[in-house]
Amino acid sequence: MRRMVVVLILVTAALLAHTPAGAQQAGPTPTPMPFLDGEPAPRLAGDLAMRTYSLDLYRSEGGLSVASVKGLAMAAEESLQRGGKVVGGYLTGRVAISFEPPQTGPCALRGITLSNQRTIRLFYGPVTDSGRVSSILAHELFHQIQHDYYGERDHRKADVILLEGMAAWGTADYFRTVDGEPQYRANVRAAQRAGELLPLTTSLERDCRTTTRSVIYDQWASFVEYLVVTYGRDRLDAAYRSSSGRPAGSSDYRAVYGKPLSQVEREWRVWVVGQ
Ligand SMILES: [Zn+2]
Repeated sequence: MRRMVVVLILVTAALLAHTPAGAQQAGPTPTPMPFLDGEPAPRLAGDLAMRTYSLDLYRSEGGLSVASVKGLAMAAEESLQRGGKVVGGYLTGRVAISFEPPQTGPCALRGITLSNQRTIRLFYGPVTDSGRVSSILAHELFHQIQHDYYGERDHRKADVILLEGMAAWGTADYFRTVDGEPQYRANVRAAQRAGELLPLTTSLERDCRTTTRSVIYDQWASFVEYLVVTYGRDRLDAAYRSSSGRPAGSSDYRAVYGKPLSQVEREWRVWVVGQ
């Protein structure tokens, strides 16, 4: 909490101290802002809209408006604190974020994190609801925290079930129903009752539709919650590190949980019925 307060003060100072390149600053020269050091973020294309304690925010023509980008900065820093608390680690360096025009088509992405490049790309038009963008950004920043916590080697070969499931579970605060329940939990319960649960090993390479992605992310989040409440966080970390590659089901569930994924999945489905 104390660290969050410190960072929020630093962010506030950054917001106040930020001056666009070339602009004249009236009054006394502001005290130089401290920035998170460690690994540097790359210089991206587009205009640098602002810098915060941890982030460099860029914006391209047709992307979210400059005012909206600046308006997100404080919430983004706060989401780093929240995500860090869930993961148990913090960023090991800065992150560059690129706000670009929306993607189109059935497989359109809203955001993507290239964590080994310390880069996040978000695809939204100039007048998108900023609460929505903040939520997706919290999810993408969570991936960077995962990368920095598990290390590049383990993170790059992480099983997509645990990679995405953990990010969706860990940012559930940003996606809640009007009753305050995690949205993924309500969605999975509804899918279970309708007999529409997908196999956990559903491949987004074979079916990249945005709708399929949303449905399976919800299930993966529920599955990660199940693993954590049933077997504990240490074993989730062990399973995360045990993976041989990105495809769904690549972690060594048998070594970590004493049974194959198919059996853990059956037990998870029984747990979902009681949700
Ligand atoms: Zn993700």
